[in-house]
Amino acid sequence: MSTAIVWFRRDLRLDDHPSLAEAAGAADRLLPVYAFDPREFGEREYGGPRSFAYEKTGGHRARFLRESVADLRERLRDRGSDLIVRHESPETALEGLIETTDADTLFHQALPTAEEQRVERAVEAVCADHDVEVRSHWGHTLHHPGDLPRSPETIPDTFTPFRKEIEVDEVVREPIDPPDGLPGLPSDGIDPGEIPSLSALGLDEPPEDERAVLAFEGGEAAGRERLEAYLWEEDRLREYKRTRNGLLGAGYSSKLSPWLNLGCLSPRRVYAEVERYERERVENDSTYWLVFELRWRDFFAFQFLRHGSQQFRREGIRNRTDLEWREDREAFERWCAGETGIPFVDANVRELNLTGFMSNRGRQNVASFLAKNLRLDWRWGAAYFETRLVDYDPCSNYGNWAYVAGVGNDSRDNYFDIVGQARRYDPDAEYVRTWLPELSSLPADAAHEPWAARELCSAYGVELGVDYPEPMLDLEASYERLR
Ligand SMILES: Cc1cc2nc3c(=O)[nH]c(=O)nc-3n(C[C@H](O)[C@H](O)[C@H](O)COP(=O)(O)OP(=O)(O)OC[C@H]3O[C@@H](n4cnc5c(N)ncnc54)[C@H](O)[C@@H]3O)c2cc1C
Repeated sequence: MSTAIVWFRRDLRLDDHPSLAEAAGAADRLLPVYAFDPREFGEREYGGPRSFAYEKTGGHRARFLRESVADLRERLRDRGSDLIVRHESPETALEGLIETTDADTLFHQALPTAEEQRVERAVEAVCADHDVEVRSHWGHTLHHPGDLPRSPETIPDTFTPFRKEIEVDEVVREPIDPPDGLPGLPSDGIDPGEIPSLSALGLDEPPEDERAVLAFEGGEAAGRERLEAYLWEEDRLREYKRTRNGLLGAGYSSKLSPWLNLGCLSPRRVYAEVERYERERVENDSTYWLVFELRWRDFFAFQFLRHGSQQFRREGIRNRTDLEWREDREAFERWCAGETGIPFVDANVRELNLTGFMSNRGRQNVASFLAKNLRLDWRWGAAYFETRLVDYDPCSNYGNWAYVAGVGNDSRDNYFDIVGQARRYDPDAEYVRTWLPELSSLPADAAHEPWAARELCSAYGVELGVDYPEPMLDLEASYERLR
C-alpha cells in the first residue's frame, strides 16, 4: 500500500495542481497537509548589517490565508479527503505525520525565493531521514522554467527582451483539471487540526472599510468567482488596457493578484480563460495586455531564481553602492500613517492600511516618493508592503520596489512626478477626496496641491497643519536633487 503526502504551500487549490494530480493517480492513500509556519507571523528582523524589525504578516493577508485554507479543506472534504492543518513549522509537522502514516512519497510545490527554499531543504532533510521520496513541481508561474527559451539563470535583467524572447515561440502548458476523486486518508486516527484563529497567530481582526475596491475573500471558489465576474459577467477584459491605471472601484483591473499569489488561482487557468474570451468575445490589445502583466509576474519570479538573495539587498542586483539612503524613522512613520502632507501619497497609503490593497498606479507613486523624494531605505517601504498587502508576493513586491528605487531591473534612474500623476490619473480628485475626507470640500487642484493654494483652502475651511498636515518636504526641491 503506497502512501503519499501532498504538502500545500502557495498552491491552495485543486485545479491545475501538478502535485495533487500526480499523487492522486499514483498513491493508494493520500494525506493533504498545510502548516501555518510560526516564522511567517510576528516580528521579524530584516537581515544585514543595518537590520530593522517589522511584522511579517498583517491582518488582511492572514485573514485571506485562513479563508483560503478553509476553502481548500472544504473542497478536499467534498471529495472524501481532508486537509490536515498544523500550527508549527512544516518540517516539524511533516515529520510527525510521516512517522504516523509511514508515508513513502512527499509531493510539494517548488518556490523561487531563498526563505521558501530553506524551508524546502528542511523538509527534504526530514524526508531523507525517513526514507521518503520527494517529488517537487513548479506551478506558480504562467510559464514553466523548463519551457523558457533559455534557463532562468541566464534570462535578461530587463523585462522587454525577456518578454520578446518568450513571445517568439510561446509555450504555456494546458491547465490540469482537478482530480475527480482522491485516494482515502491513510488512517482514521489522524487529528485534522484546527485552522488557527487570527489571535492564535498573534493578530487582531483587520479593519473593514466600505470604500475598499473589493471584499477580498480567500479561497479557490472566490478566486474563480472573481475571474468569472471580471471576464464574463462584467465583460471588463475588453477594456483592460484603457482602465488598468484606475484608482477607484472593482472594475478598473482584474484584482486577481491575491488569489494568484496564494495559488488559489492558477495563472495557466487565467491564461486559458483569456484565450477562451478571445475566441468567444473579442481579441484585442486589452486581452494581450493582461497576459503581458502576467509575464511581468513571471519575470520577477525568474529574476529571483537568477539573483537569489541579492534581490533583497539595499544595493540590489545593480550593486548601487553610490546611492545614499536615509534612516529617518520619523519620516518613515509619517509615510506609513498617510500623513506626509502630499495628498496622492497619503490617500494611497491610507487605502492600503484600511483595506490591504492599493492600485498599481498608487504603488508606483508611493514607492517612488519614499525611495526617491525622501531617499529612505527602500526596503523599509517594501517590508511595510509585505506586512500590509493582501496580495503580497516576495518576488513581485521586492522586485517592483527595487525597480522603482533604481537598484533593480531597470537601468534608468526614473522618478514619478507625484502631483503630475495625481492630476493625470485622478483629474477630479475623486480618489484623493474619497480617502482624505478632510479635503473633500476642496476643488480638484487644491485637493492635489493644498500647499500651493493656502488661501483657497482656508476659504473652504481647511487649515494646513491643523486639518491636514503641512507637506513633509518641498517636492520641487527634492526633484531638483534628482535631476
Ligand atoms: C512597489 C510595488 C509593489 C508591488 N507589490 C506586489 C505584490 O506584493 N504582489 C503582487 O502581486 N503585485 C505587486 N505589485 C504589482 C502590481 O501592482 C499588482 O500586481 C497589481 O496592482 C494587482 O492588481 P490586479 O490584480 O488588479 O492587477 P492587473 O492589472 O489586473 O494585472 C493582472 C495580474 O498581472 C500581475 N501583475 C500586474 N502588474 C504587475 C507588476 N508590475 N509586477 C508583477 N506582476 C504584475 C498580477 O499578478 C496581477 O494580478 C507591486 C507593484 C509595485 C509598484
